[in-house]
Amino acid sequence: MTRVLIVEDEPSFVEALEVALAAEGFDTEAAMDGKAGLERFRAQRPDLVLLDLMLPSLPGLDVLRAIRRDSDVPVVVVSAKDAEADIVAALELGADDYVTKPYSVRELVARIRAAGRRTVGSVETETLALGGASLDTGSLKLRLGDVDHDLPKKEFEVLQMLMQRPGKVVTREEFLDEVWGFAWIGDTRTLDQHIRRIRRRLETDPAAPQIETVRGVGYRLVEGER
Ligand code: CA
Repeated sequence: MTRVLIVEDEPSFVEALEVALAAEGFDTEAAMDGKAGLERFRAQRPDLVLLDLMLPSLPGLDVLRAIRRDSDVPVVVVSAKDAEADIVAALELGADDYVTKPYSVRELVARIRAAGRRTVGSVETETLALGGASLDTGSLKLRLGDVDHDLPKKEFEVLQMLMQRPGKVVTREEFLDEVWGFAWIGDTRTLDQHIRRIRRRLETDPAAPQIETVRGVGYRLVEGER
């Protein structure tokens, strides 16, 4: 059974989540502030963490940072903060997904399932190369010129899909299905934010491929020619 740690200081949210997740077959535990959440995480090693950001004793982003120091556990941030800067900060610290409050329970459960079944690297290792960029699916590193970059897992998976099909359009639905495991639930800003961050990385090497936006459809990777 999947054990979900809920770190949330609002009792009514905790209760609603416990009921909804139990009905979906998850085993839940809750911690009501940041420090307790981190202690609970370290003691019990849950399969997934639902993390609020505005928490007493230790802010959610600090909890996330501490978790990521020694764990790859899926973390879904659930927060009333809906500014892009907050979402980007959480994703950059290694959150797997970000759901804004108020949320629909069905959506949240779908996202939890998706985060839980994400594939942590693939079994077979391959190196994908295009222009000045190469991607190693074993080490999850992006090499640009002579420099290796460690990519957050979702960013790696998005880039991997593009590099597997250079010159071809990868649709938004395909990204969502394969990287996040759900189709068109809620907003899809997460994908655009990942693309933006990948673009910023690729820009450091003029020989690296470029990501083109295919409006209304998806994205395409083409050999760089800046
Ligand atoms: Ca809160």
